[in-house]
Amino acid sequence: MYKIEELGFELPALPFAYNALEPHMDEEAMKIHHGKHHKTYADKFKEVAEKHNLGNKVFDLLKNLNKIPSEALKGVKNFGGGHWNHAFFWTILKKDVEHNGKEVSKAIEKRFGSYEKFAELFTTASSTFFGSGWTWLVVNQKGELEIINSSNQDCPISTGQHPILCLDLWEHAYYLKYRNMRADYIKAWWNLINWDMVNQYFMKAIKK
Ligand code: MN
Repeated sequence: MYKIEELGFELPALPFAYNALEPHMDEEAMKIHHGKHHKTYADKFKEVAEKHNLGNKVFDLLKNLNKIPSEALKGVKNFGGGHWNHAFFWTILKKDVEHNGKEVSKAIEKRFGSYEKFAELFTTASSTFFGSGWTWLVVNQKGELEIINSSNQDCPISTGQHPILCLDLWEHAYYLKYRNMRADYIKAWWNLINWDMVNQYFMKAIKK
C-alpha cells in the first residue's frame, strides 16, 4: 500500500484488483474511475505543478494552500485535490472488513452514540449533499471525530483536518452502475469500508 502523504505525480496502482469490489463497485466502473477520471486529475496536477515549479508533493501543497501563488491555486485545489482525494479513497475501500473492536469504532461509539447512529448521520450528510463533492469522517482541529462534506475536490487537509474515511459523491463514481441513484450507491459503499486502514489513519491522526 502506498503512503498517502508521499503521493507525487504518478497515478498509484489500485491497492486491489479492478473486480475486487464487485458487485458493489463493478470492474468497468473501477477501470474508468481510476484509469480515466483519477488519471486525468493526476496528469493535470502534474501540468500545473511543473508550470509553477511547485514540486510534486501534493499532500504538502494541499496542506499549505496559502503558500501557493494565486495563478496556480485553482489548479492545485481542483487537480491536486482530485488526485489526492482519489488516492486516499482507494486506500479505504475493501470488501467485508469488520469494524467492531477497533480503536476507531470505540471512538465512533463514544462520539456518535453508536455505529448505527454514525452510519445514519454519514448517510444523511452524503445523500442530502447538493452537487459534486465528498463526505468525510475527519479528526478535526479539536481532535474530535466529525462528519463533513466538501465541494468539488476540496480536501479537508487544507483546513487543518485529518481525513480518516471518505466517500466520493461525484456522479462519475456511480453513473455506470447506479445511473442517477446516489442513494443506492451510498448504501452499497457501506460494504466496502476498509476499517483496518481507517483505524490506522485514526491512530495516526490522534497522535498529532
Ligand atoms: Mn471520483
